[in-house]
Amino acid sequence: MDLMEYQAKELFAAHEVPVLPGSVAETAEQARRTAETIGGQVVVKAQVKTGGRGKAGGVKLAEDPAEAGAKAEAILGMDIKGHTVHRVLVTQASDIAEEYYVSFLLDRTNRTFLAMASVEGGVEIEQLAVERPEALARIPIDPLAGVDAAKAAEIAEAAGFGPDVRDQVVGVLQQLWTVFTAEDATLVEVNPLVKTPDGRVVALDGKVSLDENAGYRHEDHARFEDSAAADPLEARAKEKDLNYVKLSGEVGIIGNGAGLVMSTLDVVAYAGEELGVKPANFLDIGGGASAEVMANGLEIILSDAEVTSVFVNVFGGITACDAVANGIVHAFELLKSRGDEVTKPLVVRLDGNNAEEGRRILQEFAATAPPGTLEQVDTMDGAARRAAELAAGK
Ligand code: GDP
Ligand code: MN
Repeated sequence: MDLMEYQAKELFAAHEVPVLPGSVAETAEQARRTAETIGGQVVVKAQVKTGGRGKAGGVKLAEDPAEAGAKAEAILGMDIKGHTVHRVLVTQASDIAEEYYVSFLLDRTNRTFLAMASVEGGVEIEQLAVERPEALARIPIDPLAGVDAAKAAEIAEAAGFGPDVRDQVVGVLQQLWTVFTAEDATLVEVNPLVKTPDGRVVALDGKVSLDENAGYRHEDHARFEDSAAADPLEARAKEKDLNYVKLSGEVGIIGNGAGLVMSTLDVVAYAGEELGVKPANFLDIGGGASAEVMANGLEIILSDAEVTSVFVNVFGGITACDAVANGIVHAFELLKSRGDEVTKPLVVRLDGNNAEEGRRILQEFAATAPPGTLEQVDTMDGAARRAAELAAGK
């Protein structure tokens, strides 16, 4: 789960990473009042889950509360890389002598944690990483040893922090590492970490991604979930532990295994191109899907008003095709008993372990299922084409 800046800074403050006072606002009037409380010059910052807000005009200085209100008015509703701004952070402004970059992240490729740091932070960090990678220090971190004062000093040394800020940076690195481990993050990034003209080191921006697999250890993280922004179907799918992402299209998709579902999206998109239909969602019901999981998945997809056909694409493995076929039959029955009888057409493609038996079970069931709701096609391309045709009303 990616956090917004104001949420990241809340975690920073909780672990004593130096941040400036501020508060989030949803209206220009709230922003004006917050600026009044803070006093003096403030920065009004778009709260969206994407970087480059500064360049997009989503970060603005304001000299007084009235100007803060006006700047908030301009930023609220703005579109930044496809993200609509619903909230702004109003925070005390800081003068900047130097801009640095520091981060901790999970380095999946090297199966370790990684610290990155540079004394040339700011809005051009991506460019720096490409053009002068040597200016961005990369230090692997032993997950068992973590970041103590010596390790933090090693990172600061590698990045070339000057003696004037070294002690403070060493402190901030240790505090950020505490955020990383105590909150079960996969990314903690500060860009810019600044030196003020009077020599203090402060985090002016913050980016945190939390590891949702560790969510059970952090009940308090539930407050970060943006339930208002979440799609209602996605919210329901999440309640049922389904791996579902709503897209904008007509062909509902169910598959077992993320890779298979991704390629199903591709073939449906391809087949639907001329017909003017697209995949409606991503839904991976996993390897060992029970009838109930199939029913829950179908229920979510069928309740998507945009959906006009469903493609169930299953490659039988540990859960063989006959079990999947029985799951589909049970799903039809379960949905009927819940008052949600299937009325939209399903195209099922079964392949892999026990495919023939699975197909026989579905063929037998199709005779008693509501007319036109269940078809089988043996190839993935063929089934994708058929589902696209049905979705287009052909
Ligand atoms: P990002 O563009 O989404 O990464 O947003 P940031 O929070 O990093 O802000 C972008 C840039 O705005 C920073 O790199 C700073 O140069 C500038 N900025 C942010 N806060 C302040 C501030 O308090 N004072 C000044 N002078 N500049 C700021
Ligand atoms: Mn930034």
